[in-house]
Amino acid sequence: MIKIATLKPIIGGNEYLSGSAFDVYEPATGDVIGDILDVGVEGVETAVAAAKKAFPAWRGMTPKDRAAKLLAIADTIDANAEQLGILESRDVGKPLADAVAEMHSAADKYRFFAGAARSMMAPAPGEYKPGITSMVRREPVGVVAALTPWNYPMGLTSWKIAPALAAGNTVVLKPPTEASLTTLYLAHLIADILPAGVLNVVTGRGSTVGAALAGHPDVALVSLTGGTSTGKTIMRQAADTMKIVHLELGGKAPVLVFDDADLDKFSATMKGAVYRNSGQDCTAATRIYAHESIKDEVVERISHIANSLVVGNGFTDPSVEMGPVVSLRQQEVVSGFVDRARATGHARIAAGGEKHGLNGSYYAPTVVTNVRQEDEIVQEEIFGPVVAVSSFGTEEEAIAKANGVAYGLAASVWTRDIDRALVSAARIEAGTVWVNDHGPTTAEMPFGGYKQSGVGRDLSIHAVEEHMHLKHVAVSHGRTL
Ligand code: NAD
Repeated sequence: MIKIATLKPIIGGNEYLSGSAFDVYEPATGDVIGDILDVGVEGVETAVAAAKKAFPAWRGMTPKDRAAKLLAIADTIDANAEQLGILESRDVGKPLADAVAEMHSAADKYRFFAGAARSMMAPAPGEYKPGITSMVRREPVGVVAALTPWNYPMGLTSWKIAPALAAGNTVVLKPPTEASLTTLYLAHLIADILPAGVLNVVTGRGSTVGAALAGHPDVALVSLTGGTSTGKTIMRQAADTMKIVHLELGGKAPVLVFDDADLDKFSATMKGAVYRNSGQDCTAATRIYAHESIKDEVVERISHIANSLVVGNGFTDPSVEMGPVVSLRQQEVVSGFVDRARATGHARIAAGGEKHGLNGSYYAPTVVTNVRQEDEIVQEEIFGPVVAVSSFGTEEEAIAKANGVAYGLAASVWTRDIDRALVSAARIEAGTVWVNDHGPTTAEMPFGGYKQSGVGRDLSIHAVEEHMHLKHVAVSHGRTL
């Protein structure tokens, strides 16, 4: 294994050595486990120049040859999944088994996009005007800036860079300040697979490096997975140079539980849907609306899950089901939301509601009830192990409540009535709606948000298309076929 302290960014195929170092904290213990470089604006300039230089040769390769590189990346990730998982587990605080599973899931995305690169579709070439043959070309856009969040650093890196590379773009990737280690390690592992400059990694503390990258005039497309406020900042910045923006942002997923739902399957699913990755999941089940006839039972079931979850250091203890949140700062954010809910006077804490007693940035699995639709805890993304449970009377009310927030990333509907399931799925404003499930995504299907959850789609063939220009080539020969 490469020692954490030697993990320098890779720019233009080489380790980049200048910048100031900052500490990496392990959320489960609070210990410093390494340091990484803030490459500053100078590092961003070097990286974008390297990506620009590498672009002509990379775009000139056949899809088949680019696909071979992506397949080699997938094999490398699978072969190093244990080591990458250890780094991710310690850097983010998630249980080791979950972190290793994330690596294999990431490898699958490179495999999917290797195939997608060779399967692009477009309207048929033909003579749509007399004497002119028209055809469509799909062309890469150039240098792509990819910015990733800390909840699934390696998983979401695959969502960002695999379609961009498959399309023939070169990439400058900025991992999150809080969790850069696996991205850096991956860059070292695949340095010999990709030609120099095709993938460059820049690291930094705070927003300086990300902002310099997202605003760089030689970047054609900015692809962010992150918070909605970061997305808005990037959208504004992009206007000056008319960049394409591809934004996967925050969520506040509603869960509609009708009175005919299979409550055993619902409960078994909610354990992961609410508390997986300590609730730091953009599709996490955060607002449960249960029919008024079953609301008390639903509160009881979710509270039982919260109270019985094994919380601790999932790197050292395989029995642990939920680790800490990513940082002390995030622990304060979560704590603030719950304290303000408590202070409303009407909301009731049914489980948890406080920092966990362990050292490190833990927060107890929490259930809040008696909430109102306009409450902050129902309206705003928390990104922690907290769920708000309330009720509805009619299907109409359930849909209105599901849609009554600024976000629209994902939702689930629990019912045995097929008509109600189909109509609800159509009426809910979200990029993904699960029926009698909550959470599964797959490389073949698009993923993205309505409303303030973003623009554009990750995953699926559409993600490759969104990283390419469409060009109409019209050849005027004046002949009749
Ligand atoms: P964040 O927005 O703080 O950071 C995301 C990335 O953007 C990081 O690399 C960060 O360094 C960079 N960045 C921050 N400010 C920037 C700026 N002004 N200019 C350019 N880059 C900047 O997000 P986070 O806190 O790391 O992650 C949590 C958020 O990500 C949550 O809101 C969550 O919902 C969202 N998320 C969305 C999805 C999705 O697919 N929709 C998936 C996972 C996470």
